[in-house]
Formats: sequence, C-alpha cells, structure tokens
Amino acid sequence: MFLKSLELYGFKSFPDKVSLEFADGITSLLGPNGCGKSNIVDAIKWVLGEQSTKTLRAGKMEDVIFNGTDNRKPLQVAEVSLVISNEEHHLPLDDPEVEIKRRIFRTGESEYYLNKNRVLLKNIRELFFDTGVGKSAYSILEQGKIDQILSSKPEDRRFIFEEAAGISRFKVQSQEAERKLVRTDENILQVETILKEVK
Ligand code: ATP
Repeated sequence: MFLKSLELYGFKSFPDKVSLEFADGITSLLGPNGCGKSNIVDAIKWVLGEQSTKTLRAGKMEDVIFNGTDNRKPLQVAEVSLVISNEEHHLPLDDPEVEIKRRIFRTGESEYYLNKNRVLLKNIRELFFDTGVGKSAYSILEQGKIDQILSSKPEDRRFIFEEAAGISRFKVQSQEAERKLVRTDENILQVETILKEVK
C-alpha cells in the first residue's frame, strides 16, 4: 500500500489544480520558504479527515480554502483527492486503487467521497483503522514528532502500538457498544417510569 497521487484544487496556497504523482519509494518536496511544502502535508492530513484546525495551521476550517491574493479572488471551495495503491488489499476493499476526496465550501459544509461515492467521515476513519494510515496514525511524522513520540505520555505511545497491533478498531467498536448500552439503560428506565405512571 502506498500513496500514488494527490490532487489539490483551491486548497490553501494552491488556487489552480495541482497533481502530484508519487512512486513507491522516497519522494522529497523541495522549495523555498513559504512555497507550500507544509500545505501539501496539511492537504494529506485534511483529506484523511483531520478535524483539528490547529493541526492544519488554520484559524477555522474554511481557512484551508484559497483566500485570494492582490490579483486573485478568493475561492469558494477547496478539494483534495488522494489515491492509495491497494494491490495487496491492506485496505478492506476489493479495488486495487482507493480514492478519497474531501471538499469544503465557504459555508463550512464538508463532503467526503470514497471511490466517487459520497460517504461520511466515519467511513473514512473506519477504512484506515489498524492500517497505520489514519489521520492520527504514525504515517505522518513531522519535524519534532519523533521526539514527541519518544517523550510523550505512555498512553499516547500505547495508542501507536495498538494501531500497529490492529486492536484500535475493536477498542472504538467496544466504546460505541458501551455508549449504546448506556443509552439503552436510559431508555429502559424511562419506559419503566412511564409504566409506573400508567399503572
Ligand atoms: P517553510 O519552508 O518555511 O516551512 P513551506 O514551503 O512549508 O515553508 P507553507 O507553510 O506550506 O510553506 O506555505 C505557507 C504559505 O501558504 C504562506 O505564504 C501562506 O500565506 C499561504 N497560505 C496558507 N493558507 C492559505 C490560504 N488559505 N490561501 C492562500 N494562501 C495561503
């Protein structure tokens, strides 16, 4: 599984459509300060479902949309598509290639697509569970992140090992089941109260 390509339109400093092809191996992005190298990494995080504006170096989520220059109007929409090679089916889909797309409008409305089908953020997150690729996984290691991993809290390090060992999917499912149980208990209590009143 590897990142095959990335396409940006209207994302941060990229008002025109930009396509990047990645080979299986090392790719370096080189350029002067402020040319947009980190914006490309932000685009990868964003399309994988990043919700933290701080992580994306933006004040609010709409700030990822190209906000114009002296001679160019701001855009109303930003779009990022990412294609992952899935020949070995590490992602639980039959397709040899998986395309994920996220779009955001100035109104704040966000859309996600998986192989051209409209999906929810939850579906994108589930797709990457236990693959090491999720937005909070260790597939993106920025300056200082290695130090952070080495010195972070034991629980944070444990998260990384759990993801690598393939158990985080079950933890999330178990948390979801626990929440449902609490809701069911509350419903039962409510029904019992109503029954008592009726009697
Ligand atoms: P460095 O090497 O200094 O880390 P870099 O190549 O990583 O730089 P980025 O941080 O990716 O550069 O890009 C910064 C540029 O992106 C700034 O000029 C900033 O104004 C521009 N930028 C960020 N958000 C937007 C936006 N929404 N619209 C237009 N330009 C933006």
